[in-house]
Amino acid sequence: MVSAKKEVIQMSSYSPPLEGRAGKLRLDFNENTAGCSPKVIEAISKIDCNFLSAYPEYTQFYTKLAKYLKVLPENLCLFNGTDEAIKLVIETFLQKGDSIAIPSPTYAMYKFYSQLNGLKIIQIPYKQGLAFPAETVLCALSNKPKLLVLVNPNSPTGTEISDSDIQKMLKKAKENGVLVAIDEAYSQYFKKSSISKIKECENLIVIQTFSKAFGLAALRIGYAVSNEDIISSLRKANSPYSVNSVAIIAASAALNDLEYVEKYANEIIENRKYMKLGLEQLGFTVYPSSANFLLVNFGAKNNLICKKLSQNNILIRNRNSEPMLENCSRVGVGTKAQCEQFLSTLKKIISQPLLIFDMDGVLVDVSNSYRKAIQQTVLFFCKKEPTPDEIQQYKQRGGLNSDWDLTEEIIKDNGKTISKEKIIKKFQQYYIGEGSTPGLIENEKWLLNAELLQSLSKNYALAIFTGRPKKEALYTLQKNNAAEYFDLVLAMGDIPKEKSKPNPYGLTLCLKILGYNASNAYYFGDSIDDMQAAKNAKVEAIGIISPNICEPGKLSSLLKEKGASVVLNDINDILGVLG
Ligand SMILES: *Cc1c(COP(=O)(O)O)cnc(C)c1O
Repeated sequence: MVSAKKEVIQMSSYSPPLEGRAGKLRLDFNENTAGCSPKVIEAISKIDCNFLSAYPEYTQFYTKLAKYLKVLPENLCLFNGTDEAIKLVIETFLQKGDSIAIPSPTYAMYKFYSQLNGLKIIQIPYKQGLAFPAETVLCALSNKPKLLVLVNPNSPTGTEISDSDIQKMLKKAKENGVLVAIDEAYSQYFKKSSISKIKECENLIVIQTFSKAFGLAALRIGYAVSNEDIISSLRKANSPYSVNSVAIIAASAALNDLEYVEKYANEIIENRKYMKLGLEQLGFTVYPSSANFLLVNFGAKNNLICKKLSQNNILIRNRNSEPMLENCSRVGVGTKAQCEQFLSTLKKIISQPLLIFDMDGVLVDVSNSYRKAIQQTVLFFCKKEPTPDEIQQYKQRGGLNSDWDLTEEIIKDNGKTISKEKIIKKFQQYYIGEGSTPGLIENEKWLLNAELLQSLSKNYALAIFTGRPKKEALYTLQKNNAAEYFDLVLAMGDIPKEKSKPNPYGLTLCLKILGYNASNAYYFGDSIDDMQAAKNAKVEAIGIISPNICEPGKLSSLLKEKGASVVLNDINDILGVLG
């Protein structure tokens, strides 16, 4: 097998969520959300097979684009999207080991192509509050990196770089022989550009695209603007037909209808204010933006909000995992109606109550699995099998946090001393199975109706807090096609043993992770420990009587006594108590 070159092997792969976006409200990739000018569609529809059978020609389009940008055709190089422009700037001017200065967080492709080409990346962090770090960049220029990248306005922050900062950086870059690439993918919303500076500044390359405001992301066409020398090198290094003819026809038609783009951009700038205000009124921090998107700090609810919006067919971009962007997502600004749809859905999502479920006896009938494992384990060590009723008595005592603890207790009461390790090993043998013998886990019956679960997940945040080992919890969820509906699963291992139920720790942790107040949450459980944990966490407790329980009436009274506001005989009656 041939292996990839070192740089590729070492690269982290860039995998944006790109599939299955059709038909959804796409506020995740900063595209034009209303579509390109109808003139573009008209022009494309006139294309015939004769046109498609010929290789592309660019001269006319260069002239037209040059006129639009108020430069000469010799100042332009077309690319297959600005991504290719970034790639070619790096490949044309930098060698392996050269350094590239990248104020971060920023557009991912700079790091991507730097890694691919074995560059030394100097990341310059944005300031606190995500302001542009002009002073640090100026310092970094003294070390003479080969290339400085400025994304203006920046993505995903929306930050703009002031003209005076740009002047200072260009001056210092010139003194130090540093090439500067300014990425202006969002220039139509920013209404400023550094293109006019290419005359005075011989080491400046400005990059723009038809992907964003022009609404042509699918066609992949962008360009670099610079002086003739730089452009001729770029043209020399680029493949001769990287931009296809359909893109040329479309971009040309788009330039014939500049009014359309300007009107759209102005509308977005208005809506950006509306969105920002709406988000701030809901209590979220929104960063200043000069582009068609907003970076929003959604706090602890960030991941939940992204997931719930997506279930409601609204896509935003979760940025939580990037340095400096904890709890942040990038939200595209669309038409007024799209902004309203986003804000009203968001409002609905953040007011949804949180439903937390215990697993065993609530979501799954374990009378033929865990309960049988207890019986068989006790039988193995004590030669005597406890009845389901006896096991239930132990359950109702409370304080036994797992079925392992419970099994140990019964064995002790039978006068045997067996190490916990041995008990667990035997128990798991019965429960999980061994070799070709299937385990009792296969007997579990999922209780919550699939359609009901699906509709609950649309209207509530859903979590699981169980004493069961995590692996076994996830196994059962996956087996029953339920995993995708739960926003959080807390299980044994997530909670220190001394803080098990009835300690409120697990429920409180659940609230904290999902950003909820106790007053907007319910806990569904089947044991007195569950009810007491809920009471201690100040969460409303709902008792569930699982199937196959002896004396359900007695358990029901007990659960109520320990804090259940309601007790249900069937988890599928849940909507009755939620109102
Ligand atoms: C979207 C984007 C690009 C990529 O544009 P394409 O022309 O579609 O390749 C480049 N830079 C920034 C900052 C962007 O946000």
